[in-house]
Amino acid sequence: MARVVIENLYKVFAGAKREEVCAVNNVNLVVEDKEFLVLVGPSGCGKSTTLRMIAGLEEISRGTISIGGRVVNDLPPKDRDIAMVFQNYALYPHMTVYENMAFGLKLRKFPKPKIEELVKEAADILGLGPLLQRKPKALSGGQRQRVAVGRAIVRKPKVFLFDEPLSNLDAQMRVQMRAEISKLHRRLEATMIYVTHDQTEAMTMGDRIVVMKDGLIQQVADPMTVYHQPANLFVAAFIGSPPMNLFRGRLMAREGGLWFVDSNSPGTFAGSGLGLLLPEEKEAALKTFAGEEVVMGLRPEHISLAPRLPTAGRDLAATVEVVEPMGAEIHLHLRSGEHLFVARVAGSERPHVGEVVQVNLDLPKARFFDAATEQAMTGSAG
Ligand code: ATP
Repeated sequence: MARVVIENLYKVFAGAKREEVCAVNNVNLVVEDKEFLVLVGPSGCGKSTTLRMIAGLEEISRGTISIGGRVVNDLPPKDRDIAMVFQNYALYPHMTVYENMAFGLKLRKFPKPKIEELVKEAADILGLGPLLQRKPKALSGGQRQRVAVGRAIVRKPKVFLFDEPLSNLDAQMRVQMRAEISKLHRRLEATMIYVTHDQTEAMTMGDRIVVMKDGLIQQVADPMTVYHQPANLFVAAFIGSPPMNLFRGRLMAREGGLWFVDSNSPGTFAGSGLGLLLPEEKEAALKTFAGEEVVMGLRPEHISLAPRLPTAGRDLAATVEVVEPMGAEIHLHLRSGEHLFVARVAGSERPHVGEVVQVNLDLPKARFFDAATEQAMTGSAG
């Protein structure tokens, strides 16, 4: 298997008015041997273009890509020792499952017995044995997707590339295929690079996640680090469902402590605004930023209904605007002054729309961002 090294990679397209569109902007990335790396980001962030350059389907504007220690910039796709699985499966409709899986091997002039052996092995791994003589139109979406994966497996490539492979499946099938691809990764011990816009797929499948926006890498880290320590406001809002709550305000040194206050209470806690006394560890980490505009991020699971007497500076009163029962948990959409936020509480809680509740903020878990640069502030790890 192989390591993929991407250095100073750029892709510049000509836009509609001949202007330059920088779809991939100086991407540097090392995908380790046997790693499952997920490229995630919103539509247009450059993730597919990056993958297509690795595959050799898109010319590289600048930079280098090497696979297994060999620079592949000028190699055609068939010589790169990669296999790609696409969103639309790209199966040949007139061929059986067997023929679809065997096709690439036939082109490469593998002997017939070897082809049979490889297709059988892949069919066993993917549970496709009973379907080998069917045509694609007689398969469900999930089965077609499995054939597309099978066609990649038979080649035993150094690197598997997946481009939104589950997007055409219904929600239940996506969950199942997600688990199957993860198992496959462990079984094949292959390097896999997987593109998706779905942050749940990224979180559940990736050894590491690369979050992209506007052609630029925003953060590269393992899923839990991305979730708990997002590098900037974009990552904080993109990863997590419901997303991280963001409160705009300012840090203020007052009354022997460090406070987070919102714009409704500049310099005073008398108004109707939010005033939160930060815990000691946050104070120690952030006191040099007193006076600065910040954004405080707090995950929905770190906001709870306060069962006990309010604690000054830690709790706030909020009005319930929407109640979303999810079964095991409830998502409460809350309003406090100008702030709209979501709390994830136990399914046994039963607040009503319109009710005013007291909520407790787990401030040691809060993460702070510089309001101007949108980058996480030093020492504010949650
Ligand atoms: P999606 O999930 O919608 O496929 P993506 O993150 O994969 O999005 P890309 O397909 O890589 O994004 O596209 C990145 C940017 O490059 C977009 O702004 C897109 O419009 C532009 N782009 C892609 N292909 C071309 C092309 N052939 N000509 C001009 N611009 C292109």
